[in-house]
Amino acid sequence: MTNDPGSDRGDAAPASLAGAGARPEESTRRDVSQPTPIVFGPVPSRRLGRSVGINNIPPKVCSYACLYCQVGPTLDRSVTRRAFYPPEHVADVVAAQVRRIRDRGERIDYLTFVPDGEPTLDDGLGRAIELLRPLDVRIAVITNGSLLWRDDVRAALATADWVSVKVDAGDDVTWRRINRPHPDLDFDTVMGGLSRFAADFDGEIVSETMLVAGINDSPAAATAVGAFLRETPIGKAYLAIPTRPTPYSGITAPDEKTVNRAHQLMSEHVSQVEYLVGYEGDAFASSGDPRRDLLSIAAVHPMRASAVHRLLARTGAAWSVIDDLVEDGSLVEVAYRGERYYVRRFRRD
Ligand code: SF4
Repeated sequence: MTNDPGSDRGDAAPASLAGAGARPEESTRRDVSQPTPIVFGPVPSRRLGRSVGINNIPPKVCSYACLYCQVGPTLDRSVTRRAFYPPEHVADVVAAQVRRIRDRGERIDYLTFVPDGEPTLDDGLGRAIELLRPLDVRIAVITNGSLLWRDDVRAALATADWVSVKVDAGDDVTWRRINRPHPDLDFDTVMGGLSRFAADFDGEIVSETMLVAGINDSPAAATAVGAFLRETPIGKAYLAIPTRPTPYSGITAPDEKTVNRAHQLMSEHVSQVEYLVGYEGDAFASSGDPRRDLLSIAAVHPMRASAVHRLLARTGAAWSVIDDLVEDGSLVEVAYRGERYYVRRFRRD
């Protein structure tokens, strides 16, 4: 791996899907010819509250070309850090947006770097975070983590308050298949960098694993991710599924039973595993309404039948509440190792 390996432009259909009907979905592609604003929001986020998004990378420059990427195909697959927008300009437009939001009397919980590509490719990221500090808002970065083996990237991210790293695979073959990394990236080096950052980071670090049917949803793949996370000091592991259009056809979300199995297998290694499947807002809100409480909790993680019984008993509700939720399609009953679980039916837009 070198510091300046150049970029690998273009985004051919993944070989693993070629011949299986895979092709770029023109109708679902984002129009990347349109300029994307550097700042947007606030948008509601279950993890980050009211979050103002910062888009410090133009579409779509990334070290990965993930099969499920919701931004669209990677146009410039690169591991070269460089300047995109001057950090002073990024800080100015974010500060102006924050002023507008505060003038309306609205709250902001996080400023979040969540760009149309990989945020750590921006060599001004650390400086931008520094310039945003006077706004007195916590700063989050959502990264694929592929460049954390670099000292300068770890130093830039160390100044954030909250970092989410992508861990879709715990083995080299699955990683190449789902994330389609730049050819100069090496699996062990990437995972080593991620572990090192997690061990040194003073803020909160979480992981995100996107499960794609037939790609990384097998028991072996989930166990490999869990085993990696067991050795890595990460606060919480989030499981996601594709819920928006992806660049290629043939990319689908696993069903509830398969996602529950992945949750159980990862939970054998990691103490906190939660779903991140598109339901924002009222997770764990105790409303006193058993129907609402059940849906809130089941959106975050599967509920064992015994836990459901306890919740119903606390509120004096009957099991028919569950029967109704299963019947109207809000909840799905799945079995795993002899236990019954109830999970929220995943939204597939
Ligand atoms: S790392 Fe993120 S931006 Fe890059 S290809 Fe994957 S999903 Fe898209």
